[in-house]
Amino acid sequence: MEKIKIVLAGARGRMGIEALRMIKSVDHFELVGAIDHKFNGIKISEIEGLPNLDAKIYTDVNECFTQTKPDVLVDLTTPEIGRLHTRAALEHGIRPVVGTTGFSKEDLKELTEMAEEKKLGAIIAPNFAVGAILMMKFSQMAAKYFQDVEIIELHHDQKLDAPSGTGIKTAELISSVRESKQQGHPNEKETHVGARGADYDGIHIHSVRLPGLVAHQEVLFGGEGQMLTIRHDSFNRASFMSGVKLSVETVMKIDLLVYGLENIIE
Ligand code: NAP
Repeated sequence: MEKIKIVLAGARGRMGIEALRMIKSVDHFELVGAIDHKFNGIKISEIEGLPNLDAKIYTDVNECFTQTKPDVLVDLTTPEIGRLHTRAALEHGIRPVVGTTGFSKEDLKELTEMAEEKKLGAIIAPNFAVGAILMMKFSQMAAKYFQDVEIIELHHDQKLDAPSGTGIKTAELISSVRESKQQGHPNEKETHVGARGADYDGIHIHSVRLPGLVAHQEVLFGGEGQMLTIRHDSFNRASFMSGVKLSVETVMKIDLLVYGLENIIE
């Protein structure tokens, strides 16, 4: 099997380090370069704490793509930077696999159009954990029977975006099957701003940020005399890597942008 050549952006980050380990462990993957905003020209192996990989670090995205000619960009950075990397990858004919969260609807629309125009595969997945995908799918199923739902997403305190991409995606999936509904008392008033959380089509999303957490979510459905809770916990970042691996393999076989891992797993 021919190796899939990968460039990784965000290699020193918490997700990035796990992705380096995963890439190293897969025979048909080859890391050909890394994109960072420092350490230009240094090898991954020269940075303390990173796996023993010879790929070079580039601070210039275009130079990296031209020199290393990868098949796939894996981006695990920040929304502002990830957006630029994804656009640059598509311009260079490289297939992006994006785990970075916080892209806006406008970003997704623009990138979808770019991928379509270039006939290139692209995958943007706010959650690579298979259990989290099932949690979202089960929530969508339950929403047909329970109209009243609130989402509580809990993450580590270094997370930049709120609500989480998974929280928003869950609300999107629920709202695609239930009739729009404004929940709670029609006259309810927040005495402290934000007390009822973010509002997505009447679904409230509450964001908890605490040290010690990784990525967790509860979806609570309330009905007459009953409550259904669907919960998923990622206890470490290795939980996301089977999804990254599957996405890298799948992106080579498609020619459009897919948003959400649920659209590539059965
Ligand atoms: P992190 O530890 O902060 O890692 C981000 C990395 O990006 C850092 O090494 C950072 O370097 C680097 N970076 C900053 N600017 C850059 C640039 N211009 N070029 C290249 N690299 C740059 O964050 P994380 O926890 O790994 O998360 C990364 C992203 O993945 C976030 O958006 C997070 O929400 C998302 N995430 C997704 C999933 C999923 O399943 N899809 C799961 C968990 C997290 P410095 O530290 O030097 O700034």
